[in-house]
Amino acid sequence: RRERAAQARALPALTRDGHAVAIGANINLAEQAAFALSQGAEGVGLMRTEFLFLERGDSPSEEDQYRAYRAMAEALEGRPLVIRTLDIGGDKQVAYLDLPREENPFLGVRGSRLLLRRPELLVPQLRALYRTARDGAAAISVMFPMITSAAELLALRETCGRIRAELGAPEIPLGIMIEVPSAALMADELARDADFFSIGTNDLTQYTLAIDRQNPVLAPEADSLHPAVLKLIAATVAGAHAHGRWVGVCGGIAGDPHGAALLAGLGVDELSMTPRDIPAVKERLRQSELTALQALAARALAAPDAAAVRALAAVAAEATA
Ligand code: PEP
Ligand code: MG
Repeated sequence: RRERAAQARALPALTRDGHAVAIGANINLAEQAAFALSQGAEGVGLMRTEFLFLERGDSPSEEDQYRAYRAMAEALEGRPLVIRTLDIGGDKQVAYLDLPREENPFLGVRGSRLLLRRPELLVPQLRALYRTARDGAAAISVMFPMITSAAELLALRETCGRIRAELGAPEIPLGIMIEVPSAALMADELARDADFFSIGTNDLTQYTLAIDRQNPVLAPEADSLHPAVLKLIAATVAGAHAHGRWVGVCGGIAGDPHGAALLAGLGVDELSMTPRDIPAVKERLRQSELTALQALAARALAAPDAAAVRALAAVAAEATA
């Protein structure tokens, strides 16, 4: 019985009518890779690098970072690995960085906005990433958080190009997180310069619904399956696919079977989640027909609120069971 469950986890997330959705894990440490793979991950869709900077007295060196990225690449044995550059600010504060106090840190200098202002953070990280790419241990991609404009992406691309040339490293795909409404609405424009998108539905929901993602009072209302969020996801997929780019989701909703069903129906190509969520998501997708998921997504986009979307997804799940 246990063997059968392990076999099922190893199967691809292929719908009954033959549509494959790529499945990644959100993990930060190489030591977590074996468990993620055992749950059925096909790679890592989000390696958050904040953990390298938190709970210590100073910035990790280029060498420290290189070792961490290299270890993850080796643990994945050639499978895809998406590493996100430092996403500090907002809820994540680091004392030694001396960030100025802000009235509204979630609307302030966070994510890529911070990296672009602090080359002493950006450059060692990119050097460590390109050195990892040069080693060739994994198919690594780099992803930038909290992008709100094409200008930011172009500035980051330029720095990447310079560092790559200095190191004689290969080109690697450079993608962006879509986690603010402006980026979702401008996806068609951003897709010209981004090699891929990964939608951060945790932040996208916060910024769309104007609900602080950490506010416990409003938590029940902060549902990423809100039709307003789904419309922004649909716009992101349309923009990406118009330029032949793939689009993933690495926010929490990717690991919810109802969320995964809807996202696949909206045309999302990859879902990346906490490893323990992978088996249930794979099972949900493997029981479904893509055409049914697309019909579900179309109804969800026309629903009045998140509760109605959840009700539709539950009915659709019943129909496949
Ligand atoms: C997100 O915002 O959905 C996301 C994946 O990034 P983080 O949770 O690290 O902000
Ligand atoms: Mg985020």
